[in-house]
Amino acid sequence: MTSEEIKQLDESSFMPTYGRFDAVLVSGKNATGVDCEGKEYIDFGSGIGVNSLGWADEGWTAAVARQAGTLQHTSNLYYNPASATFAAELLKVSGYSAVFLGNSGAEANECAIKLARKHGVEQYGKSRCEILTLQNSFHGRTVTTLAATGQDVFHHYFYPFTEGFAYAEPNVQSVRENMTENTCAVMIEFIQGEGGVMPLDPQFVKELAALCKERGVLLIADEVQTGVGRTGSFYCWEQYGVKPDVLTSAKGLGGGLPIGACLCTEELRGVMGRSSHGSTFGANPVVCAGALEVVRRVSQPEFLAAVKEKGEYLRSRLEQMDGVAEVRGMGMMLGIVPARSTAAALSAACVENGLLILTAKSLLRLLPPLTITREEMDKGLAILEKVLSAAH
Ligand SMILES: *Cc1c(COP(=O)(O)O)cnc(C)c1O
Repeated sequence: MTSEEIKQLDESSFMPTYGRFDAVLVSGKNATGVDCEGKEYIDFGSGIGVNSLGWADEGWTAAVARQAGTLQHTSNLYYNPASATFAAELLKVSGYSAVFLGNSGAEANECAIKLARKHGVEQYGKSRCEILTLQNSFHGRTVTTLAATGQDVFHHYFYPFTEGFAYAEPNVQSVRENMTENTCAVMIEFIQGEGGVMPLDPQFVKELAALCKERGVLLIADEVQTGVGRTGSFYCWEQYGVKPDVLTSAKGLGGGLPIGACLCTEELRGVMGRSSHGSTFGANPVVCAGALEVVRRVSQPEFLAAVKEKGEYLRSRLEQMDGVAEVRGMGMMLGIVPARSTAAALSAACVENGLLILTAKSLLRLLPPLTITREEMDKGLAILEKVLSAAH
């Protein structure tokens, strides 16, 4: 099929929920993708932070293929070695005590929300079910996680939304003002990704954690985007020095297959008891085999040190570029405020010139595969530099 035929087939088939870039991708290797016509693209987006080991990684591909040819699914009615091994490894590297596995970030957050409400109700009574999130946050696209998302643009059309969410500014005074005796949890992103790559102030996070502890309120971190090595530590909280009671993880965790994890501390492991939650596809053995490869590799200290180094290199190159007003973020999660033109126009021009790049609000956003090489970074940066300097 030609790229025109593929585009037509796509557009006549799918609900028009996505505005796609003009690229029909067919294959790739590490941080270099290839389209229908054989044109190469440097990948600074990893499919929105998902392909953490890049395209067609050998170890990941072998692990997935091996598992697919052995046992592809059992349901959660039975035990299987792939799911159990992965779950144990994830707990070992994250420092948490129990995990529930679903298939997406939104589902991981749904589990965290259910856990917090059940804990609140059981410990304090049935009105203790409200959750405080932050303005400008993003927590997913289900009706409940849209309600949790602190951006009004997401609160149209789909009424009635799930009740029991309130929103605070990212400062302790606003959290105090919005916290009531019915608040069972506060949910945060350490770096608001979709909100425009906005890192929370470390002092605020420390004060927030102390306030939550004092009030018996759970601290939930949505690390769907910041997790799995993205910021230079396995989870971002390690750099903030504040361990959340509940942590959600997805995007890069599966290395390209759908997975969402809700992790909790030892104290909370029993909250979601038998029959309180479930997922037909959750903890799928093929997905878990791929995710095990991701977790084992990314958690190596040398791997994480390399992410930090590459992140610093990218940042220093970007900060010197004409057309860049500001660079924000941590590790390999970076946002660029363009000095001229718009993120939409610039990202389209990048794709045309052979660079896959993301946007977040009015920013360009970089979430490159964690395995990207220096040569690939340099090629991508050269394209970006050319596009930015041509903008007006
Ligand atoms: C992407 C994202 C989600 C939603 O994940 P899905 O897998 O699309 O459901 C939730 N929270 C954050 C912080 C995200 O970046």
